[in-house]
Amino acid sequence: MTENNQIEKNADIIEGEDNIKIYENFEDLGLKDNLLRGIYAMGYEKPSAIQQKAIKPFLEGGDLIAQAQSGTGKTATFVISVLNSIVEDRGTQAIIIAHTRELALQIHTVTLALNQYLNYNVLLLTGGTSVNQNIDDLRRNPHILIGTPGRILDMLNKRKVNCRNMKYIVVDEADELLSSGFINQIYDIFRFLRDTDLQVSLYSATMPREFFDISKKIMRDPKKILVKTEQLTLEGIKQFYINVERNEFKFDTLGDLYDLISVAQSIIYCNSKKMVNELTYNLTSKNYTVASIHSDMTQEERSRIVKEFRNGESRILISTDLLSRGIDVQQVSVVINYDVPSSIDNYIHRIGRSGRFGRKGVAINLITFTDI
Ligand code: ADP
Ligand code: MG
Repeated sequence: MTENNQIEKNADIIEGEDNIKIYENFEDLGLKDNLLRGIYAMGYEKPSAIQQKAIKPFLEGGDLIAQAQSGTGKTATFVISVLNSIVEDRGTQAIIIAHTRELALQIHTVTLALNQYLNYNVLLLTGGTSVNQNIDDLRRNPHILIGTPGRILDMLNKRKVNCRNMKYIVVDEADELLSSGFINQIYDIFRFLRDTDLQVSLYSATMPREFFDISKKIMRDPKKILVKTEQLTLEGIKQFYINVERNEFKFDTLGDLYDLISVAQSIIYCNSKKMVNELTYNLTSKNYTVASIHSDMTQEERSRIVKEFRNGESRILISTDLLSRGIDVQQVSVVINYDVPSSIDNYIHRIGRSGRFGRKGVAINLITFTDI
C-alpha cells in the first residue's frame, strides 16, 4: 500500500457522520412513556448534545461508535437506548460492560433510576461479590446485565447466562476495554455470542487510532459520532501547572495549595499504589482528613470509600488511575495530578472528573524538571 493510500484509509477510519440528525427534546425521540417518566424524574430536562445525536441511531439499529467529551452524559445515552429497546417477555437481551467495579456500580445506579417506571430486571455482575448470588440472580433471566469483563465471562463460561435472545452489547470506556489489558476477555465474551445477531455499541471520550482498528473485529460497519481532538478538552476546566522542580518538593507544595484554596471536593491522582499509600500517610500525619483508594484494597473497603466520597463525608480522595475514568461526582471541582499521567488520553480522563455536565473545574499539575 502506498503512503497516500494509507493516509486516505486512516482518514476514512476516523471520519464521523456529518449528516447525523439532532433531536432537541426527549419527546422527539419516540421513547416509551415510562422511560420518559424516568428521565424527567431524574431531573433531565433536555437531552445533552451526545444524547441528541446518539440515541436515535441506536434505536434505528446497527452498530455504533459514539464519542463525546467527559461529563456530557454518555451513560444516559446508552442506558436510555438500551431501556427503550428491551422487550418485556424476552429475557436477557443486553450486556453493558465497564472497566472497573466502581464504574459498573455507577452505571447500575443510573440504570435503576431511569428504569424506575419500566421495572425491567437489571443485574450487576462484578468481581469481589458473591458468585453464587450472581448465579441465583441469573436464573430469573434479567433483561439487562451490567458488569466488569471478568465476572461476565465467568458467568458465560459457567453457562449461567441465557444468550438465546441476547441482542445488545454496550462497551463503556471502550478504548480502555479494547486495549491490551482487557481485549482478550472482550473477544472471549463475544465468542459466546457468535451465533447471535448482535448490535454492538462503543462509548468513550477518547478514541485513539488503534481503537478503530480493533473495533473492526467486533463490529459491522458502525455509524460513527466523533469529536475532533482539539475539541476534546472542556472549556469549563481551567488547567494549571506548578513547577515544583523536584519530587521532594511536591508534598509541601500540595500542603500550601490546600491551605490556600478551599474546595468542595477534590481528587489527587498518583501513578502508583505505593505513592497513594505514602501520600495518604503523610497528609494524615499533618492532620488532613483524606480518603484513598486503589486496587489492592478489599472490595468492601473500595465500595465504602467511594460511597463516603459520593456522600461528601470525605472531601479529599487520593487515587490511582482506578478512578481516572467514568466516575461521576458532581461536587468534584479540583483535580490534582500529584504525578503527571502516563498519556494525554489518561490526562483528559483524569481532569474530566471535574467540570461534570457544564460545571466549572480546575486541574492542577505538579511537575518536576524531569517531567518537563
Ligand atoms: P460521561 O459518561 O459522558 O462522562 P456521565 O454519563 O457520567 O458523563 O454524566 C455526567 C453527569 O451529567 C451526570 O451527573 C448525569 O446525571 C448528568 N446528566 C446526563 N444527562 C443529563 C441531562 N440530559 N440533563 C441533565 N443532566 C444530565
Ligand atoms: Mg462515562
